[in-house]
Amino acid sequence: MTYQNYSLKQLQEIDAAHHLHPFTDHKDLRDAGSRMITRAEGPFVYDSEGKQILDGMAGLWCVNVGYGRNELAEAAYAQMKELPYYNSFFKCTTPTPVLLARKLAEIAPANMNQVFYGSSGSEANDTALRLVRHYWALEGKPQKNRIISRNWAYHGSTITGTSLGGMSAMHGQLNGAVPNIVHVMPPYAFELANPGESDHDFGVRAAKAVEDAILEAGADNVAAFIGEPVMGAGGVKIAPDSYWPEIQRICRKHDVLLMLDEVITGYGRTGEWFAAQTLGIEADTITTAKALTSGYQPLSALLVGDRIASTLVEKGGEFYHGYTYSGHPVACAVALANLDIIEKEGLIDRVRDETGPYLARALAERLAGHGIVGEVRSIGLMAAIEIVKDKASRERFENGGLAAATVRDHAIAGGMMMRAVGDTMILSPPLIWTKETIDMACERIGKALDLAERDLRK
Ligand SMILES: *Cc1c(COP(=O)(O)O)cnc(C)c1O
Repeated sequence: MTYQNYSLKQLQEIDAAHHLHPFTDHKDLRDAGSRMITRAEGPFVYDSEGKQILDGMAGLWCVNVGYGRNELAEAAYAQMKELPYYNSFFKCTTPTPVLLARKLAEIAPANMNQVFYGSSGSEANDTALRLVRHYWALEGKPQKNRIISRNWAYHGSTITGTSLGGMSAMHGQLNGAVPNIVHVMPPYAFELANPGESDHDFGVRAAKAVEDAILEAGADNVAAFIGEPVMGAGGVKIAPDSYWPEIQRICRKHDVLLMLDEVITGYGRTGEWFAAQTLGIEADTITTAKALTSGYQPLSALLVGDRIASTLVEKGGEFYHGYTYSGHPVACAVALANLDIIEKEGLIDRVRDETGPYLARALAERLAGHGIVGEVRSIGLMAAIEIVKDKASRERFENGGLAAATVRDHAIAGGMMMRAVGDTMILSPPLIWTKETIDMACERIGKALDLAERDLRK
């Protein structure tokens, strides 16, 4: 690669001339110019000016084992030399997706023993929707096709992903969603709990919104409920403890399938392999992607529960669905090496027993008291900081989103990469973070909050 021959300014000009970015206002981008990240090592990324930034977002929720892992580069290199590609259509396959499928069945909840591959979370959710509807058709109930989802859900950016998701801005540009998907309130107590309502009662009420939607449609018309165990892109919204057991009970009562989107929570983020295990719930499908390869290769795996898989096998007939890169041998080789690292280094136990609890304490003791912080919350290595103008009333600053964006800009300038969603700051760092890394992050975030408060209260 010869990009080193170009100056930052040249690269930015070429970028502006030819490259449309995801989720970007391109007019804005032209004015500001893009930040060019050129290398990374361990928990840090470096931009073209050599500035070191602590990556509080693990890339985009995916680089769980951190940067600079030679084992993953070597796994890709060896596989590319031996067999760079072959498909899994027409009764063929290659060794690495086979071995990865067995490995996933081993670490997944006991009822999940089958895997369908794609290259992204959006694709995997498309597969999930098609599979669930196909399942009910095979069971002789094709009209049982409605899906219940939630406002603020993020399930990807294809037409299916956007339709399943509950992001109003995205729906606004859809001009025709996939039919028969309805959205209910999310379990977001910070904004939606009534004054004086306990967390427990709020969780039960938010779950009841799902049951109400099932009853309204008629259970015979409802295929499944889909949800992220912890809403990620929607702002790390963590449900009260009462919510998921209620959801499980309601789904079973009405014979509605439970689809979990673990594209973020999968592969250790909450302190177990999957959040289904952290929350003690049993799903019919689990969508995974991102950290499956720690982002070193694009790969998704839809974990399919025994109920759906056995109908698929028993009833037979072709399921007319698949991608050229389903079970890509290189991506699967990298995934195997990635899961090996997570296991050998005990990263998940570390999140559960050490860094997860340490992060929760650090946020509570060092940041929760800050003048513009309304709430901190976390589960495993996933956290949110609510930015407010008034701590007591939880009143937000004017110009929704501007306050958190101000914090974010100061954070990045101070060497701390984090994201702002509305007026919520979020963190989802690599699982290799230590207590010392968490200390460094809290110090940098604290400084960013101070600087932002000064700006915002001017
Ligand atoms: C990122 C994400 C997706 C979409 O994954 P892509 O690989 O970007 O298509 C789906 N669901 C959740 C929960 C995600 O965080």
